[in-house]
Amino acid sequence: MSKFFSDRYASLAPYVPGEQPKEKKYIKLNTNESPFPPSKRAQKYAAAELKKLMLYPDPDCKGLTKAIANRYGVEEGQVIVNNGSDETLYFAFLAYCDKKRPAVFMDITYGFYKVFAEFTGCKYVEVPLNSDFSVPVDKLKKTKGTIFLANPNAPTGLALSKSTIEEIVAADRDRVVVVDEAYVDFGGESCVSLTEKYDNLLVTQTFSKSRSLAGARLGFGIADKGIIADLQRIKYSTNPYNVNRTTAAAGLCAMEDEKYFSSNCEKIQSTRTWTKTQLEDLGFTVTDSKANFLFAKSEKIGGEELYVALKENGVLVRHFTAEKIKDYNRITIGSQKEMQILVDKIKTILEAKQCELLKS
Ligand code: PMP
Repeated sequence: MSKFFSDRYASLAPYVPGEQPKEKKYIKLNTNESPFPPSKRAQKYAAAELKKLMLYPDPDCKGLTKAIANRYGVEEGQVIVNNGSDETLYFAFLAYCDKKRPAVFMDITYGFYKVFAEFTGCKYVEVPLNSDFSVPVDKLKKTKGTIFLANPNAPTGLALSKSTIEEIVAADRDRVVVVDEAYVDFGGESCVSLTEKYDNLLVTQTFSKSRSLAGARLGFGIADKGIIADLQRIKYSTNPYNVNRTTAAAGLCAMEDEKYFSSNCEKIQSTRTWTKTQLEDLGFTVTDSKANFLFAKSEKIGGEELYVALKENGVLVRHFTAEKIKDYNRITIGSQKEMQILVDKIKTILEAKQCELLKS
């Protein structure tokens, strides 16, 4: 840190992204990316934009916004497009949280919520998940402040039904509820349709997972027009050109390519079911994930120990050190072939551990 750095940020603990190693070729099951490339058409459209890069992009992303509105059956004024859903979430913190109005989120959830809260200097409340990782809905409804709810939750993968989300949104119509649907396309129930009925609901989604564009950085929010206008105000006060030309072009195709999208989501779900069964056969406890990852622990090996052993064997998964979840690992669903390798490596690691135990 330099001597010039503002006191305001001196004590920040920034978000720690999953490892993106360059030095060794790993099977990457640690940051919930898609194992499938963007469609051929998306690649072609993005490439065609390269020769126009001397021009600023359209700050309203009109074509893309229209495609999203069509896909979700909402009006264009109900959609905002941003640089990843992280940016939409950040805007929501700026717009709806401050010293008087806290952000409310679960103690075990997407780590960026706490970072945004600290960064924006708002108050925040962490609501503990129940011991089975379920959301204490009644407790949550009684809180005051702007709720940020990942649904399905990360890293547990557990999802709330649309009717439960509606209960939370309807319980207090004088506060905003942000539902982060980064993983909803893998078996969750979206609450986008509730934005017609509730002007206090913001749904955020991303192109990073189900639409194979993590590297492009693209996400969107859907809400009542009032909320979208608030977020646009913040976007136009910070960085109106936040979505670049190539990303917007690839995103447009990814939104229109319904067949490619749904077939990839189906593949992930069937590979998830297969992997879950394999892990359970090996004695793992695995949550009922509706996301493109599994959250699993074993009595036979510690969470960190398995993470390290897998890394040594060329497979990266994500381990978190928080006490409540330190026995677990979050494992992204890759291709069927990658998951077969993962399962084989885990078998070898557990067998080696068993031999060691017998020897001692
Ligand atoms: N929400 C959740 C729950 C996530 O796990 C992630 C991905 N790390 C994001 C939002 C951010 O996604 P994006 O790549 O669109 O910024």
